[in-house]
Amino acid sequence: MIRLVIFDADETLWASHGYWASLLVPPLKRVNEDEIRDSEGKSITLFEGVRQLLKTLKDRGILISLVSLNDREPNRVAECLELFELNHYFVYPQVNWDDKGQNIKKVLDLLRKNKGTIINCNEVLFVDDHLSNINKATAACPGINAIHLGSNISKVTEIIKFL
Ligand SMILES: [Mg+2]
Repeated sequence: MIRLVIFDADETLWASHGYWASLLVPPLKRVNEDEIRDSEGKSITLFEGVRQLLKTLKDRGILISLVSLNDREPNRVAECLELFELNHYFVYPQVNWDDKGQNIKKVLDLLRKNKGTIINCNEVLFVDDHLSNINKATAACPGINAIHLGSNISKVTEIIKFL
């Protein structure tokens, strides 16, 4: 049974149009419910159905986290999640340039140490659009349900069928 879903950010939760969140130039502005624009006109657009997906996971009692390869400081991923008013869904989001497999293990460690919640790798679903990250997740966390967006599924909302 899946108890924790871990999302990648760029090109998984949102379209970042060929760049990544760290390249956004402040000030960032939310221009409509699902779009953020930076001072140079670059935008981040939440994929259709992501809001409902996060709500569905929460309603089912499934924990949600995030691991993203982006600068830790300034943390534009966190800024975007705040602007979208979605940050409250994510427990211990990891935004840095470390191996994603190690970041996934870090999330599990933090849940165990700080909340007493023990989650095994086979109870985690990880979704990412880069195959290299899928491979790192599988290497670090044997048994993890690692879903490659782009081959296993074509839209992030399709993860629902693996729950
Ligand atoms: Mg990505």
